[in-house]
Amino acid sequence: MPHILFLMSDTGGGHRAASRAIEAALQEREPGRFTVELVDLWKDYTPFPFNTIPDSASHWLDALPSSYSATFWMWDMLARSRWWSRLYCGLLSSWMKRLHVEHPADVIVCVHAAFVRPAVHALRKTCSNKPFITVITDYAWPTCLWYDPRVDRCLVPTEPAYERGLALGMKPAQMLVTGPPVHPKFSKLGLSKSEARTQLDWSPDKRVVLIIGGGDGTGPVLATARAIDERELDCELVVIAGRNQSLKTALESAPWKGAMRVYGFVENMHVMMRASDLLITKAGPATITEAAILGLPLVLNGGLKYQESPNIDYVVEREAGVYAPGAKKTADQVEKLLEHEGAGLEALGAGLTRIAQPDAVWKIADEIRRYV
Ligand code: UDP
Repeated sequence: MPHILFLMSDTGGGHRAASRAIEAALQEREPGRFTVELVDLWKDYTPFPFNTIPDSASHWLDALPSSYSATFWMWDMLARSRWWSRLYCGLLSSWMKRLHVEHPADVIVCVHAAFVRPAVHALRKTCSNKPFITVITDYAWPTCLWYDPRVDRCLVPTEPAYERGLALGMKPAQMLVTGPPVHPKFSKLGLSKSEARTQLDWSPDKRVVLIIGGGDGTGPVLATARAIDERELDCELVVIAGRNQSLKTALESAPWKGAMRVYGFVENMHVMMRASDLLITKAGPATITEAAILGLPLVLNGGLKYQESPNIDYVVEREAGVYAPGAKKTADQVEKLLEHEGAGLEALGAGLTRIAQPDAVWKIADEIRRYV
């Protein structure tokens, strides 16, 4: 049975979510036809201290976001030079060769920017011409690291991401704009809002404002929840802290004026989004595109400079969401949107169709099937 290997890492929640989304679409297209495996490359195929990145990155992002952004910018600059790329691939070469020996596959799908070049480099060095496909999970302006002309196919989420690939030496025939991969459970969800609320045991008639900080609960989640709660608006707050246990504890132990529900990492994001009226999130690509498919109006309250900030411009330019940086501005925006029986929510939600691409995951799955 053909075996498909996904190269990912649990830095944030987007890479795993993308892999699972594509896997689900593949299995739906041809049930039982493939075996699929996910490998966390930072964790299992890099030396110390890099192998601690999935566990430590969220602390770094929370404590020193600007130093993370500076590092991201520097890597993006360095990745344009050939000598740096060669050095990087060379340093990880023995680890990547071991990866290919320990996880032989018929098709390799890479959904993490940091590993496209070293993984395809090691593969081609062994004279293997096994299909290697990149699925870019960044959104509006992916880092240079994503692009390597040695891959067989590079599936990109947006037009700007395609243009960037061309500028970096990718051939038009190598790339395809598919849209970003979102799990079919979002587009196929057959639940009304009230059914979703019943399932979740949420009150049936209050407006619900959902706050998320990606898979690791990063960004100004607590401050935003506090600022909205202070306004004593006619709504309930639901906060998803993801894997951030200390955020969850802080949320659970804080005194709240209004109704507040706190969750850790949830597996039913689609149901939670369907049950909500408004989403407040950092500019994480997966969360944005999931909300868009469900028609959930969104306020972006921040995003990492260079990596996520282009997503804010992309969404705002298409009038698919609003940007309200920081807790106070977000609370102002929420207050405004909930006025007049929530009239602003409907207008905001209308723009989401400009970025919603429910077919993307099927296009990606079909491209991968072509190589199996
Ligand atoms: N997610 C989830 N459960 C949670 C929190 C997040 O399944 O409790 C998922 C979310 O639905 C999305 C991903 O994690 O698919 C977050 O990806 P995004 O690109 O928005 O941000 P990242 O976490 O990668 O920074």
